[in-house]
Amino acid sequence: MKKKIIITAIILIVLIGIGTYNELSGKSNNTSTLSYHNYTSSHHTNTSSAPNRPSNVSSACNHIWNEADCYSPKKCKICGKTLGTKLGHDYQRKTCEEEGVCSRCGNIQPPIAHKWVDATCIEPKTCSTCGKTKGKALGHTTDNGVCERCGLEFFKPINKTGYGDSAVSDIKVGNGLYTIHFTHNGNRNFIVYLYDADGDKSLIVNEIGNYDGTVLLTGNSPYMLNIQADGEWSYTIDKLSITDDINFSGHGDYVTPIFSGDTSVYKFTHDGDSNFIVRIVTTSDYSLIINEIGAYQGTQIVEISGGNAFFEITADGNWTITKQ
Ligand SMILES: [Zn+2]
Ligand SMILES: [Zn+2]
Ligand SMILES: [Zn+2]
Ligand SMILES: [Zn+2]
Repeated sequence: MKKKIIITAIILIVLIGIGTYNELSGKSNNTSTLSYHNYTSSHHTNTSSAPNRPSNVSSACNHIWNEADCYSPKKCKICGKTLGTKLGHDYQRKTCEEEGVCSRCGNIQPPIAHKWVDATCIEPKTCSTCGKTKGKALGHTTDNGVCERCGLEFFKPINKTGYGDSAVSDIKVGNGLYTIHFTHNGNRNFIVYLYDADGDKSLIVNEIGNYDGTVLLTGNSPYMLNIQADGEWSYTIDKLSITDDINFSGHGDYVTPIFSGDTSVYKFTHDGDSNFIVRIVTTSDYSLIINEIGAYQGTQIVEISGGNAFFEITADGNWTITKQ
């Protein structure tokens, strides 16, 4: 019985000790009363060791700041108050495969792993960190007019053939410039009117007998065609292509591919009997350069301000366009 009282007393003392300790430090601690006493004595030592530091020190300090660096935030040399966060290293490297060198402190980081982004139709596999590439772009799949990977639509030339008078409706093309190449095997009129989506009507072919020529599709898609013919006819609609050429030659009606040029002197020739009409189409202008009947030879200044341009030719013979 006496032994039990002693054990209970010890437990009580320990509990009281822990309670007192918790009040003082605000921390949890499972030490005995013995270490509690040790703590309180060292606590007193701590407070008494800083009598030269007033309790309102941070508000009274005329801070002298050390600027933030890679490792530490901006910090007062006197009171230790900090502002913001450390800067961290600013590793510079041309590619992930090189060591990184911190632009501020010179610290060196070993090479890091590339962050590869998969190849696409137009971009090879590329590291999003350093831009290094691997392999080639996949390229579009063009088999059915639409890329199976990215959905890009490709214009496929539209072909049609027929005989005699015919009307064709709902001819659809996308954005851009398109030409239509007609042929006719007959003896009498071959006359084609183009109607655009807005109902604008234009005479695009007016020939007697055989015809083989290319004209521009003007206005807005979808189009309708009204064809008067006495024989077989065909047409092919295609997108106007781009060329590096600056000189052109051909026979009959034609639209040149788009070329890059500047205002220059050009020489024109034509050996036909009928109209010889040449227009230059630029990004800002559509202007008539030549409007003659029969054979022609002459030079003219062709104004090309925007860089890209193409010629539209109406002719019934051989023609040439040559930059001088
Ligand atoms: Zn300070
Ligand atoms: Zn650094
Ligand atoms: Zn990389
Ligand atoms: Zn694609």
